[in-house]
Amino acid sequence: MTTRPSSGWRAGGGRRATVASAALLFVAVCATAADRFASARARMIREIEGDVAFTSEDIGKKTLDPHVMRAMATVPRHLFVPSPLQGVAYENRPLPIGYGQTISQPYIVALMTDLLRIGSDDTVLEVGTGSGYQAAVLSMLVQKVYTMEIVEPLAKQASARLRQLGYQNVTVRHADGYNGWKEAAPFDAIIVTAAASHIPPPLIQQLKPGGRMVIPVGAPFLTQYLIFVQKAATGRVTTRQVLPVQFVPLTRTK
Ligand code: SAH
Repeated sequence: MTTRPSSGWRAGGGRRATVASAALLFVAVCATAADRFASARARMIREIEGDVAFTSEDIGKKTLDPHVMRAMATVPRHLFVPSPLQGVAYENRPLPIGYGQTISQPYIVALMTDLLRIGSDDTVLEVGTGSGYQAAVLSMLVQKVYTMEIVEPLAKQASARLRQLGYQNVTVRHADGYNGWKEAAPFDAIIVTAAASHIPPPLIQQLKPGGRMVIPVGAPFLTQYLIFVQKAATGRVTTRQVLPVQFVPLTRTK
């Protein structure tokens, strides 16, 4: 036993311990909040992998690009949904984001991103910004993302959210994406996240030779197909049907 005068030392030690445990508690609370979403996000990734395996014959592959999966495992989906839905943000299904629109199912976001075969120097156009989630995933993988949204409040909200979260290489425009974005064209890749009755000719025009596009095509609320479009170096355009899907309709400004 030491004969150290105990009271002062103990009291000081006690204060230090209190401060230390308060700090630890703070860290633990933060970590718990982060972990709650980290494990939900990890579960979401496993579900995407399951869906990919299940649909491998249709999509022609058993796994998706690891860069795409890493982006999916990083983007905080809970910050792109209305706050009452944060608890279910990582479920593998679409969720309402207001104005009759939805944030797409994570598996579909991952698949469409993978199909684009994007590289880090690419410039991508998205038609249908919605929450901004797909744009955030793309922004981690390419040089520059242009994204267009026809519903003005959604465009404003997504733009503010993306800026706040630090996705600096994304530009949002409130406009009808059917006509594409002439000033920013041509694009290495184009992704349309609302269902069209046909592939908009301006989007084909704005695709670079060698460029890729994914777009759901079909009648609103009936079966639509995800279509992969490729423009060869010669300018020749070919399409391939990938998978039956269900998207909100591509609307037009009158
Ligand atoms: N990619 C979005 C989900 C999009 S839902 C996300 O990650 O959250 C489809 C979106 O397309 C809706 O927000 C809808 O308003 C928008 N949209 C429909 N028609 C459009 C058009 N012609 N131009 C631009 N956006 C359109």
